[in-house]
Amino acid sequence: MLSIAKENIFVGSFAHMTERGELITVDHGAIYVTNGKISNIVIDPKSIDTNDENVIVLSGTQFLVPGFVDCHTHAVQIPNLGIGYDKQLLEWLDTYTFPLEKKYENEEFADCVLDAVVKHTVALGTTTACYFASLYANASLILGKKAAKTGQRALIGKINMNSKRDDGYYETTQESIANLTKFIDDIIKLNNPLVKPIVTPRFALSCDMVLLKELGKVAKEKNLHIQSHISENLQEIEAVKQIFPECSSYADVYDTAGLLTDKTVMAHGVYLTDNEITILKQRGTAVIHCPSSNTCLKSGLCDVQRLKKKGIKIGLGTDVAGGQSCSMLDAMRSALQVSTHLSFMKTDYEALNFKDVFHLATLGGATALAMADKIGNFQIGKEFDALVIDINAENGYLNNLKEYALEEKLEKLIYSGDDRNIAAVYVNGCKIK
Ligand SMILES: [Zn+2]
Repeated sequence: MLSIAKENIFVGSFAHMTERGELITVDHGAIYVTNGKISNIVIDPKSIDTNDENVIVLSGTQFLVPGFVDCHTHAVQIPNLGIGYDKQLLEWLDTYTFPLEKKYENEEFADCVLDAVVKHTVALGTTTACYFASLYANASLILGKKAAKTGQRALIGKINMNSKRDDGYYETTQESIANLTKFIDDIIKLNNPLVKPIVTPRFALSCDMVLLKELGKVAKEKNLHIQSHISENLQEIEAVKQIFPECSSYADVYDTAGLLTDKTVMAHGVYLTDNEITILKQRGTAVIHCPSSNTCLKSGLCDVQRLKKKGIKIGLGTDVAGGQSCSMLDAMRSALQVSTHLSFMKTDYEALNFKDVFHLATLGGATALAMADKIGNFQIGKEFDALVIDINAENGYLNNLKEYALEEKLEKLIYSGDDRNIAAVYVNGCKIK
C-alpha cells in the first residue's frame, strides 16, 4: 500500500457540496489531514507556519474540490472508446463489445489495458471508480491489483452472465458462482481497504433467474455492493419482458432476485416507470445517470429531475465505452446538455445547473455507492479524497486573464476544463497524481 503522510495541512480555497445540494465555497481556509482523514477545517486561518514541509499552500489560481466518483464504467471497454456509435445497445454489444471483452482471456492483454485504464482515470481526477471488469476472474483481479497499486478507490465487478452464446462468451451457472466466490476472496486478500468487490450481473438479458437469485444470495451473505444495468434502451426493455414474463417490470426482475438493496447501483434508468421508481426508492437503490452513453448509443434522454423529485439517490457514470470519454468533467457536461435539451421539450422543466452536476460527480456519487460516510465532500472525519484544481494550468485552455470568484472558477472548470487543470489527485490523504 502507498504510504500516507501523517499530517498535511492544505491552505487555500476549496469548494464542495452539502447533502442538501448547496455549494460551499471557502476563499481562504485550511484543511487538516491526519492519517488520511480530515481532522480539522479552519476558515480564515491565521497562525499556520507556511514554511513547514507538511503545509501545502495553494496558489491564487488553485483550489480544492472533492475527488470525482465515477459510479459506472467498464474498464475493459476502453480500447473501443470512440467507435461503434453507428449501432444501438444490443447490436453494439454483439458487434463491438463482446468480441473485445472476450480478449481478456489473455492476461497479458488485460494487464496492459487495465494498467492504462487506472492511470488514465486517476489523471482525469477519478478518485473512486465503480468498475465493471471482465467475465474472467483473473482479468478482474488484475484490475483490482492495478487500483490497489495506484491508490485509486475502487469497486471491482467480475461480470456474471450465463445466457448461452455462439461465441462461448458466458459461464455456466456453476462456473459463474464458483469463479465469483474465488474472485471475491482474492480481492479481499489484497487487504487494501480502498479496493472492494461488487456483485455484477451484466444485465437481465445476460443472466437467467437462477443465476440472478444466486448472485443476490452471495451479495447478502457477504454484505457486498451490487451493480447492473436497467431500462437503458427500448428494444432491451421489450426483450426483458419477453424473457421474464412472470415479472411485472424490469425492476421487478432484479427485485425478485433480491438484487435491489441500499448498496445497489443501477446504470441508466432512462425509461423507468413510476412503479419501478417506487420499488427502487423503497429498496434504497441508486440510479446512475450515464448521459454520454445514452446519447452515443441513442438510448434516450434520462430525466434526472424526475428521479430526484421522487427521492432516488443518483450518481454519475462515464459508462465507457458506451460513453465516449473517461472524464467525469465530460460526463458532467453531457448531463448539463441532456438536461438543457430536455428543458426545450418540456414545460415547467428546470434544467440541471453546474452545481447540480458537481453534486452528482462528488457527494451524489458517494451517496449512491453508500460511501457518503467516508467520501464526497470535506467534512471532519471523512477520508481526504481531493483534487487540486489549477484554473491557470500550463498549456491549458482555461486562463486567469481577469479576476474570477471561486464559484466562477468552478463553473469554468466544469464547462471548459480538462485534465490539465487537475494539478494533483489525493485519495485517502495520499498523493497519487
Ligand atoms: Zn454500462
